[in-house]
Amino acid sequence: MRLRKTIPAVAALLAAALTLSACGSSEPRDVLGDAANGHLIIGTKFDQPGLGLREPDKTMTGFDVEVAKYIANYLGVPESGITWREAPSSQRETLIKNGEVDYVVGTYSITDNRKKVIDFAGPYYVAGQSLLVRADDDSITGAESLEGGKKLCSVAGSTPAQKIKKSYPGVQLQQFDSYSSCVEALHRGKVDALTTDDIILAGYAAQYPGEFKLAGKPFTTELYGVGLPKGETEARMKINDAITEMIDSGAWQAALEKTMGKSGYPLPPPPTVNRY
Ligand code: GLU
Repeated sequence: MRLRKTIPAVAALLAAALTLSACGSSEPRDVLGDAANGHLIIGTKFDQPGLGLREPDKTMTGFDVEVAKYIANYLGVPESGITWREAPSSQRETLIKNGEVDYVVGTYSITDNRKKVIDFAGPYYVAGQSLLVRADDDSITGAESLEGGKKLCSVAGSTPAQKIKKSYPGVQLQQFDSYSSCVEALHRGKVDALTTDDIILAGYAAQYPGEFKLAGKPFTTELYGVGLPKGETEARMKINDAITEMIDSGAWQAALEKTMGKSGYPLPPPPTVNRY
């Protein structure tokens, strides 16, 4: 008698739990609906100084963080309504698709492959892939010079790692989870170079003065976009408007100077938001 009552009750609970988890974390989020409710979950990097960095006191700094906050504010959400979520390179599409973030502002290049899964607003910045080496190393002058047995570090799921595999298959590439662990490996002499976008590398070089330098010239064009759920067209248009306003008002320039100005990295002009 007792058992017969318990089994359906447990089954009902299980069904409810399954439904809840389906709604809570595997459907993409409703970006404008969340903004209207005063709360946004934003994905960014937590370990890229000058771009997306979680400081020891847990505050967030960097150019991506400034862009993300400007967009949130444009959508009616103050900084106090933002929850920051770490978005490592290889997890960005999944975080967006599964509804764990509303949007990602995290050195995220607009690519056709990624556009199959998510949508992008922007671009809000143009970077280029480059190399970071130890300051006393003059043997690396470009990607070709890595082919004679040098060890190169990059991050899984990133466009720079893909570019090396495709165009420089002879290079010994090690793929880590984050660029900060590549910086650590470079510092300890475990690898000879780190490759990713020039602005990211400049942020690390500025964090450890005198220890590293950028080598060679940028050899790709990376258009940074704001990643958001596929089909969120109205939100995408509004985010494009927000980026355009940020650029036109001078806030974009001010944010870039505030976050990257001291790095010595030559600050480029803003891109045209061409509304992908
Ligand atoms: N912009 C490149 C990418 O989206 C490299 C930077 C990164 O991994 O965040 O893959």
